[in-house]
Amino acid sequence: MPEFIPVNEPLLDGNEKKYLLECIETGWISSEGPFIKMFEEKFAARVGRKHAVAVTNGTAAIDAAVDALGIGPGDEVILPAFTIISCITQIVRCGAIPVLVDSDSKTWNMDVTQIEAKITTRTKAIMVVHIYGLPVDIAPVLDVAKRYRLKVIEDAAEMHGQTYKGQPCGSFGDISTFSFYPNKHLTTGEGGMIVTDDDELAETCRSLRNLCFQPQKRFVHERLGWNLRMTNMQAALGLAQLERLDDFVNRKRSMGLRYTKLLEGVRGLELPLGKTEYAENIYWVYGLLINDSNALNAEQGMKALAEKGIGTRPFFYPMHQQPVLRRMGLFEDEHYPVAERLYRQGFYIPSGMALNNMQIQRCADVVREVFG
Ligand SMILES: *Cc1c(COP(=O)(O)O)cnc(C)c1O
Repeated sequence: MPEFIPVNEPLLDGNEKKYLLECIETGWISSEGPFIKMFEEKFAARVGRKHAVAVTNGTAAIDAAVDALGIGPGDEVILPAFTIISCITQIVRCGAIPVLVDSDSKTWNMDVTQIEAKITTRTKAIMVVHIYGLPVDIAPVLDVAKRYRLKVIEDAAEMHGQTYKGQPCGSFGDISTFSFYPNKHLTTGEGGMIVTDDDELAETCRSLRNLCFQPQKRFVHERLGWNLRMTNMQAALGLAQLERLDDFVNRKRSMGLRYTKLLEGVRGLELPLGKTEYAENIYWVYGLLINDSNALNAEQGMKALAEKGIGTRPFFYPMHQQPVLRRMGLFEDEHYPVAERLYRQGFYIPSGMALNNMQIQRCADVVREVFG
């Protein structure tokens, strides 16, 4: 049996080791230390934002963003049904109401034409989430947000190095967030970043990150925060990874194109779009959709691949079908057919940064064999 190919392996062969060693040798291992500021500044510059606030993970970045915008009980936030649970948890926990829109069947991103009809007098924000490698068509979202005076939260967790009409993803939200989990284009092990141009929002996020300690009266609190502080060690990794972001994006693009070339013409499968009018896919993951006419659904397909040594992950399970949210009485009788189909028929194959061409070839051969 050939070696199992995991769904993700990161690539850490730049300055990661050198910078990490520096943390250990200097003793700067907590959230104090020089790499944090360097990483924040370089990251902000890369995304074209004024401020960057490094945090513990991408979910925490979203939590803080929602809180910083003052979203609270009774406020409505519009977001895609097809996304990760991270996007919705703070909305629900703070007593706000998540309002869902379905996906575009081609790009798998939120169908932006459905947003306006969901706006009410209680709508406070739109959360856009760029999915799997292609950005949301964001110009119409910004237009709607402006007309209705809504805030925009942009979850760019899967979009490091991606652009929309030439502008960096992460530059569009009143607040935008990133994740540095090891399957993202840039990793710090665990980690996240909040970016914004707004001085006050940035200050609020810095405070929320640090338990809302006050500079003057440290242990007197006017607001509830969290401990979301990134360590100097994580920032050291992040800085080393950021130096290579362009290479990483090129690497992922050529992986995606290679997969597409090898899998084109497999009748049972839909492949990810290579590009749209506003962006070229950066293939955060290489996702596949099994045609409805195929005898296998995603679950069966993933099992067949695992038996042949190929790691996979299912697509996101739509928010309106989440048992925990249904039990709260949310989304009763709501249906989002595109999102439902994406979960039922979709999964992704190995597409981590360290994947090599031989592995891609083998994955593609096995996928052809199973679905062809
Ligand atoms: C990975 C991811 C997150 C969560 O990031 P963590 O660092 O794992 O908490 C949030 N949103 C999207 C779209 C993601 O892909």
